[in-house]
Amino acid sequence: MGMRTLKRAVVAGVFTASAFLTVGSASAAPKKFAGDLAYDHLVQLTEGIGPRVAGSENETKARQYILNELEKLDLEVEEQSFNYVRRNVNKQSANVVGVKDNPKTNKQIIVGAHYDSVSVGKGADDNASSVGVILETAMALDKRNLPYDIKYVFFGAEEEGLQGSNYYAKNMTAEEVANTIGMINLDSLLAGDNIYVYGGDGEDGWIRDLALKIAKQRKIPLQTNPGINPEYPTGTTGDWSDHAPFKAKGITIAYLEATNWELGDQDGYTQTEKHGGIWHTKNDNLAFLEKEFPGRTQEHLNQFTNILTQLLTDIKKEL
Ligand SMILES: [Zn+2]
Repeated sequence: MGMRTLKRAVVAGVFTASAFLTVGSASAAPKKFAGDLAYDHLVQLTEGIGPRVAGSENETKARQYILNELEKLDLEVEEQSFNYVRRNVNKQSANVVGVKDNPKTNKQIIVGAHYDSVSVGKGADDNASSVGVILETAMALDKRNLPYDIKYVFFGAEEEGLQGSNYYAKNMTAEEVANTIGMINLDSLLAGDNIYVYGGDGEDGWIRDLALKIAKQRKIPLQTNPGINPEYPTGTTGDWSDHAPFKAKGITIAYLEATNWELGDQDGYTQTEKHGGIWHTKNDNLAFLEKEFPGRTQEHLNQFTNILTQLLTDIKKEL
C-alpha cells in the first residue's frame, strides 16, 4: 500500500499527507485497499490536529472532523454533549453519533471508539486508528441494506475515566438497551504485535466468535486473549475501555485491539516485544510506528477494516 491522496481538506490547518508519507511508504498502490481511507483519517487526526486531550480545543477539532466525515454519508448525525468533573475542574466534551437507520426496525448494533487522546504522543495507535477504521467501515456500508440500525459512536474523554461511553450508556432507555444486539468497541489497533478480539463469557461471546470465524475464512491472524493470566480468562479482557459501561448493562460486547498478551504482566498492557507499551508514550505517533514496525500500520488497518465490515453484515446470519 502506498501513496494516498486526500480528497478534500476539511479542518483548518490540514496536514499534507503526501509530505508525511515519504517517511514510511513503500511502492505506489494501483488501487485503494481496505484501510487506505482509515489511514487518511489517521494522518488528519494525528498530524493535522495532533494530541486530542479531553476538553481541549484539539478534541473539539477532532470532533468537528468526525462530524464532517459522517455528514458526507447517508447517516443521521448528532452530537451528545456532557460535563464532568476531573481533579476538581469542570470539563466539557461530547460524543458524536452517526445513525444508519433502517426504518423497519429498532434493533441496533453500536460500534464505538474514543477520539480523545492523552497529551504525550499524538494518539495514533490510541485511538485515531479506531476512528479511521470506523469511518471507513461506515462509508463501505453506507448503501448496504441491513436488518438493524447501526450507531457509530465516537466517545469523548475516554482517557479521563470513560466519560463519554459512561454518559452514553447511562442515557440509554431500557427499551434501547433491550434492542441492542451488541456493542463493538475498538481501541488501539496499530502498535501491538498481535491482533485480538475479545468478548463475554460463554454464550455472551458470540460476536467475538463470529469475528474469529470471519478472520479464519479470510486468513487474517486474528486471535483472542489466550488466558495465560487467570485474572482475564480465555476470550475475555478487562473493563478498561469503552465497552465496559455497555457490558455493565448486560449488552453483549466485542472488543478489537492490537497488543501482546504474552509479554510483561500478561495483562495486555505491554503491546510490543521491541518497545514495550506504545500507548500513552511519546512513541504513539505515525513516524515512530512506521519506522520501527514497517508495514504494520497499513496491515492492521486493512485487517481490522475487513473484519469490522464483514462482521457488521454477517451478524444478521446469527440472529
Ligand atoms: Zn484508548
